Amino acid sequence: MKYDLIIIGAGPAGLSAALDAAYLKLKTLVIEAHGAGGALVQSYPWKRVDSYLGLKGMTGKEVAERIIGHVRSEGVRINDMEEVEQVHIGKPFVVETSKGKYECSAVIFATGIRGLPRRLGIPGEDLKGVEYSLQDPKKFRGKAVAVFGGGDSAVDSALGLESAGAKVWLAHRRNDLRALDESKEKLKKSGVKILWNTELEKITGKGKVEKVVVFENSSMKKTELKVDSVLISIGSSPSKVCLERIGIKMDGVCASVDENGMTSVPGIFAAGDIVSSLKRIPQALATGEKAAYSAYKYIKDPYWK
Ligand SMILES: Cc1cc2nc3c(=O)[nH]c(=O)nc-3n(C[C@H](O)[C@H](O)[C@H](O)COP(=O)(O)OP(=O)(O)OC[C@H]3O[C@@H](n4cnc5c(N)ncnc54)[C@H](O)[C@@H]3O)c2cc1C
Repeated sequence: MKYDLIIIGAGPAGLSAALDAAYLKLKTLVIEAHGAGGALVQSYPWKRVDSYLGLKGMTGKEVAERIIGHVRSEGVRINDMEEVEQVHIGKPFVVETSKGKYECSAVIFATGIRGLPRRLGIPGEDLKGVEYSLQDPKKFRGKAVAVFGGGDSAVDSALGLESAGAKVWLAHRRNDLRALDESKEKLKKSGVKILWNTELEKITGKGKVEKVVVFENSSMKKTELKVDSVLISIGSSPSKVCLERIGIKMDGVCASVDENGMTSVPGIFAAGDIVSSLKRIPQALATGEKAAYSAYKYIKDPYWK
């Protein structure tokens, strides 16, 4: 099947690009490795998202349902649970996935930067009860949970768990958090117990998590905590394999793009967290829209001029 445009990833950036492509009447296919919605459903379906203009107070899942519904209503096809494994450069491009091959005139990468969750590599990490993302805080009501990490994900998860009725420790190896000021304020007012300069040494239990051993990294003093679950939220190893393998110039974990959102490979564009220094939904939407419009001009060239 030949498309004008293939968008890889159905997070906010990919869906924004898809909506614009639909308005521009491009024959478009969106391919998504998991379920459409990106980080909104995969990382924080339960969390309130207040940065989305006009949708105050909705959870990540609700925002995702709203934007997916909008895009689908414009007739865009979204293939869920299909991972793009390779993009072959040529005219046309050939996009190879876990389920087949598709041809297209332009490609937009909107694959985010989350990749695989980073592991600590410590004893006990494979025990039942060790999680890397929080899907449903309600599941932890009445449980004791130790969260490790100091970024937005760790802080949001600790707050979500606490408001769902869990007893929560948040341990961070430094003495300051890399989270939004607003979240830090919420944390101060919450009942989450913060363990500064604290690292996880090991997790123990018979078949499932029962205890963690942590140490204060200046004094090396060790403490044992009785917990039911451990949430390790220390970032991810970006899955940039595909981009680098096809020769796209990278700038650290991000794809280098010009002012039109085009990568170093003509006809391949990128949008969202994979190009933005400020990794937030509004940037994902804006860069997605720009990439779709630029792809349209690229496909219609020279008639556009
Ligand atoms: C815990 C947490 C809380 C956050 N809270 C907020 C907030 O309150 N407000 C805010 O503005 N921002 C927030 N963000 C940031 C925001 O979610 C991101 O900036 C936004 O989701 C980026 O959109 P994206 O489309 O670029 O990437 P993503 O949302 O990561 O979507 C990328 C999609 O690409 C898919 N994909 C990857 N590789 C492939 C492949 N090879 N084939 C097919 N599909 C693939 C993935 O499965 C994923 O669905 C938060 C992020 C996290 C982690």
